[in-house]
Order: sequence, then C-alpha cells, then structure tokens
Amino acid sequence: MPYPKPTRRSWAEPWKVKMVEPIRMTTRPQRERCIVEAGYNTFLLRSEDVYIDLLTDSGTNAMSDNQWAGMMLGDEAYAGSRNFYHLWEAVTEYYGYKYLVPTHQGRGAEHILSKIMIKPGDFVPGNRYFTTTRLHQELAGGTFVDVIIDEAHDPANEHPFKGNVDFGKLQRLIDEVGAKKIPYVSVAGTVNMAGGQPQSMANLRALRELCSRHGIPIVLDATRAIENAYFIQQREEGYRNKKVAEILKEYCSYADSSTMSAKKDTLTNIGGWLATNDQGLFEEARNMVVVYEGLHTYGGLAGRDMEAMARGIVESVDDDHMRARIGQVEYLGQHLIDWAIPIVRPIGGHAVFLDARAIYAHIPQSQYPAQALAADLYIDSGVRSMERGAVSAGRDPKTGEERFPKLELVRLTLPRRVYTQAHTDVAAESVLAVYEQREQARGLKMVYEPKYLRFFQARFEQI
Ligand SMILES: *Cc1c(COP(=O)(O)O)cnc(C)c1O
Repeated sequence: MPYPKPTRRSWAEPWKVKMVEPIRMTTRPQRERCIVEAGYNTFLLRSEDVYIDLLTDSGTNAMSDNQWAGMMLGDEAYAGSRNFYHLWEAVTEYYGYKYLVPTHQGRGAEHILSKIMIKPGDFVPGNRYFTTTRLHQELAGGTFVDVIIDEAHDPANEHPFKGNVDFGKLQRLIDEVGAKKIPYVSVAGTVNMAGGQPQSMANLRALRELCSRHGIPIVLDATRAIENAYFIQQREEGYRNKKVAEILKEYCSYADSSTMSAKKDTLTNIGGWLATNDQGLFEEARNMVVVYEGLHTYGGLAGRDMEAMARGIVESVDDDHMRARIGQVEYLGQHLIDWAIPIVRPIGGHAVFLDARAIYAHIPQSQYPAQALAADLYIDSGVRSMERGAVSAGRDPKTGEERFPKLELVRLTLPRRVYTQAHTDVAAESVLAVYEQREQARGLKMVYEPKYLRFFQARFEQI
C-alpha cells in the first residue's frame, strides 16, 4: 500500500538510541497462562512476560548518557555527599525552594510531611487524591477532602485545566471545619487520578491568595509539575512564549513546600525529595528523615542516584524534550480518538486513560471492568496497562465500604524516552482489537484483598 502524502511536518525526539534492551515476544496461550497466574492483576505479572510495558511512568525512564556519566561520579560518603549538594542546587534553581530533604522516593517525602503537618482530626483538601498521598494523610489521622472541579470527574468534558481546584468547595470546607483544622491544601500538578490533567497558573495563583487570607499553607505534589508547566505553555493565555523552566518556577512559587517523586518528571529510576521555604518545617523534616529514610544528605539514596536526579532535572525542563514526551502521549491518544474509542479527554500528560465504564458498559463496577480490560489487553498483545478505578479507590477507612469512583479507567502510561512510534502503534492497535471484542468480555471477582493499597497485590478470578 502506498504511503499517503503527509498533511503535516513531523517532529521527532531530540535524542537517538545508544543502547538497547531486548524484550521478549510471547504467544497468546503463554499470556493467557501468565495472567491467570497473576490473578488478573497486571502488577503481579513478571516483567519478562510483558512485551510493551505501559504499566507506569514511575522509575521506568531511560536515562541519558550524561546521567549515566553522572552515575560514575557518585560520592558515596555517608555524610555530606557532593551529589547531594548538586541536587539541592538543581532543586533550588529550577523549582525555587530554599531547603531540600532527599527521600528514597515520593512516598518517603509524603510520609514525613504528613507526620509533621497533620494532627488527628484534621482535614486535607486536594485536587483529587493520589493513592500514596492520601494514605499517608489518613495514617497521620487526617481526612482527605476532594476539592477538584466537577469537570474532572467527567471523562468526556474537554475543559483544558481539569486539575483546577474548585474554590466554592474549598471555601465550604473552610467554613464548615475552620482553617485551624486544615494543616495545608494538597495540590498536584497534572492530576494523575483525573487522567493526567493540568492545573492552570491562574488557578494556583488564586488558590495562593485564598489560602494566604486564611493562613493555610499549600503543599504541591511536584511529581509531574514540569508536564503541568508544558500544558500551561500550550493552553494558557500569556505563557505561549515562556520557557517551560520559567513557567515551572512561577508555578512552584505559589506553594510553600513540595513533595516529589523524581521517578516521573525528572528522568530517573529512583529518588524523591521534600523541598520547602519554611525553615521550621525543614528542621523537623531533616530530623525525621534520619529515622525513616537515612541521613539528611542522602535520604535512602546512593550518591550516584542523587547525581542522576540533579542532571535529570536540567534535561526534563528542556522545551524540546517536553514536546516529544507529551507529543508521544498525544500520538497514542489521537489514534484512539480517531477510532472512536472512549478515552479521557483532553489527552493527559503522561498517559492515555481508557474509559472502561463506557467500553465494558455491560460489566457492573462491582465486577471491576477496568481491571478486566487491563487483563484483556495483556492477553491480546502483551501490552501491560494498569487499573485506575474501583480497585485503586479501595475502601473507606471509617465504614469499610468499597469506594466506587465515577472514573473507572485503564491507564496506558508512556515511560519517558523508552518506546518508539512503532511500539506506540502496536499498543493502539491492541486497544482497537480488544475494543472490537468488547461484548465477549467478562467481569472479575476479587479473591484476595490486601489491607493497604490493595490494587498492587489483589487477586481476581473471572466470573
Ligand atoms: C508516583 C506518585 C507519588 C508517589 O511517589 P513514589 O515515588 O511512587 O513513592 C505521589 N504523587 C504522585 C502524583 C505520583 O504520581
């Protein structure tokens, strides 16, 4: 078949491949065996049995030659590693915070921050929950309150900033419980659980004003703040000619502190940090990190990992990198939109989210349609995705009832700088094949349920 003449000029990634990692191609009968052994949970598959791994963008990034070179310059001194100071400088330069406490990954920072800031009986409002963030808030005695705009719960709504905070909802909470019971407002840049949707600069700036009036600090989950900054550049009035790096710094300036999973935006395989402008919080966090993570100049990381993070930050704010990164996600999403497959709109920053509730409309939410769809995709092609629906939402800690969220999604997450356009085509075509067979799909029943973050280890059987 002749190739049609292009109707646009293509862009390509600002890197080339220097080293390859072979991946195994499996047969359908092999995959059918594997998914049964894994209890229909893609988290329980062996990586070896996966062809294209779109489970997560967490720690799955490909590092650059410059980052690998940095790995060889690890200063593995127990205290005062040179790499820690590089990292601190990079965080201050690009994110703007004065003080830094490294942690082994994002949840290490969330744990410490929640323990310091939250008292039992407190309420923590946020632009939708994230699994580990909310769990640490709850373990510290807090109650998470969702204050994201309603549009975020509607997968078809095309709002450009579905990560925005609804000030009406936040004000009602302040009026109801009082500002003293709100230790901070928890905001995330590109909201993972809403489909990778960004928050606008105007929204965070206005939140800053509202919170300042009530004396409530803002804590930013900066895990994907750089992707958020790219969306601001693309979609918000007045930012078109600004660099991603400049936008990131302004965005972070409206938050008092940040927690970070460096395994996402900043192109590493491990790492995290807590950064703040609040000296008192810094002193406490620096003290607590030695209990749970490691000394305050390594926080559970090797010196080489901190060096890779420092170099990764510089690479991740590059405009061409961000364009290629989010461009690849758009490429996958646009195929599915063109084929009329229901996905969360607009296309997210790190992932394409399939609307499993719409695709498997005949499977009730109590039979976990998103979990079933992720399993079916794996069986079809060896593409690994993840459930983001009722299984991830878990149970209400007070009533023990299952939480059935409006969004019942399957996430196809693109690791940064890992897969080619051909891999992306294979994934898109597999989604189409499963979509076309949707009427034959069956629901699941949970046969093993762990107490915490059940989606990681739960097991299922086909009904
Ligand atoms: C991954 C993630 C975290 C937790 O970070 P880990 O490094 O996995 O511990 C927190 N917030 C968001 C938005 C995330 O995506």
